[in-house]
Amino acid sequence: MTERLYYDDAYLWEFDAKITRIRAGKQKGTWEAALNRSAFYPTSGGQPFDTGKLCFPGGEAAVTGVEADREGEVWHTLDREIPEGTEVRGFIDGKRRTDHMEQHGGEHMLAGAVWEKLRGTTIGLHLGQEDSTIDVTLPGERTHLTEDEIFMLEDTVNERIRMDAPIRCWFPSAEELASLPLRKEPAVKEHVRVVAMGDFEMVACGGTHPSSTGRIGMLKILSVIPAKGKARISFVCGGRAAALFRKYMRCADKAGAALSCPVEKLSRAASDLKSRLAEAERKANRLASRELTEQFRKAESAGDLKGITLAAVTVEDMDPRAVSAAVSDYIAEKGKLLLLAAGERLTFARSEDVPVDMAELIRRVGRGGGRPELASGAGIPECVNVARKILITEMK
Ligand SMILES: [Zn+2]
Repeated sequence: MTERLYYDDAYLWEFDAKITRIRAGKQKGTWEAALNRSAFYPTSGGQPFDTGKLCFPGGEAAVTGVEADREGEVWHTLDREIPEGTEVRGFIDGKRRTDHMEQHGGEHMLAGAVWEKLRGTTIGLHLGQEDSTIDVTLPGERTHLTEDEIFMLEDTVNERIRMDAPIRCWFPSAEELASLPLRKEPAVKEHVRVVAMGDFEMVACGGTHPSSTGRIGMLKILSVIPAKGKARISFVCGGRAAALFRKYMRCADKAGAALSCPVEKLSRAASDLKSRLAEAERKANRLASRELTEQFRKAESAGDLKGITLAAVTVEDMDPRAVSAAVSDYIAEKGKLLLLAAGERLTFARSEDVPVDMAELIRRVGRGGGRPELASGAGIPECVNVARKILITEMK
């Protein structure tokens, strides 16, 4: 069984060990090595594995994955083979691990605060590439948090982070374990490891943790959404929170510059702009719609259709609202038949008194459907001419 060095020192980035077993990896060109001792963290409890390298006289192998088997052996996925018995020096990517510890430590603080303040029980952590999530069962099967509750949780956790309380991990005896006020029952029965984060959180956990709450940096909740009857809280901590703040600030600054207003007035400026744009679009559409109705009239041919006027029109693609207004206006009068292609959108329409099924007609020449008096669909502009010929032939 591999001795796990990270249990005693979560900041141990270098260590000496010996290869005890080597075997072919799951992917071609990879190997899996077991060591007598290792500071590499294997994926578990929602925290991803460490990466790094194993160096030995004459070479080095990259560690690209770490997993523990049922027997407690830790297997390191390598990009090259190292013979059994080789003495190696392991180097861990400390930046990656520190990031994981910040997110994982923040998760403990958040879960502790959710339990203390809202009596919510947390099940499982998912530490993702961008953010992390916990699923919380709240009293009364609530799946949301109010904005006040979210701010209260953030403030509580961040205050406790700033207190820089010590974080302690240890393996208590059975008697001691029974007396500890754990937040929830341990999932394992033997070799239970406990983490205590100041007086704010105590729970069984085999993961790696910062040495004090201050090293979590800060916590920011990003969203709370319902997920399978629970509230899913997504959040970021430490360096990720700082990076996200920078990213949002940059976006806000750019948007402010584009709208020539300070960041605090951004939402007001954006909604003003939106309503001015909507008004301008309404005006433009009214104009376009009037012009289109004019085009319908110019295209009219009375022909031999027993007093019914037929307009077959093809125009460039345009705002569907303008098209719809022009069509409604046009067929409000009696005795009108309209075949329109606006780009690749077809609209076939007729006045109430004209006995032609436009939905059927549109299906004969293109794709689409609708009501007997108004149908729409898709097709090439040529469909309009085909439909026109059909009408002239069949209505004679
Ligand atoms: Zn933990």
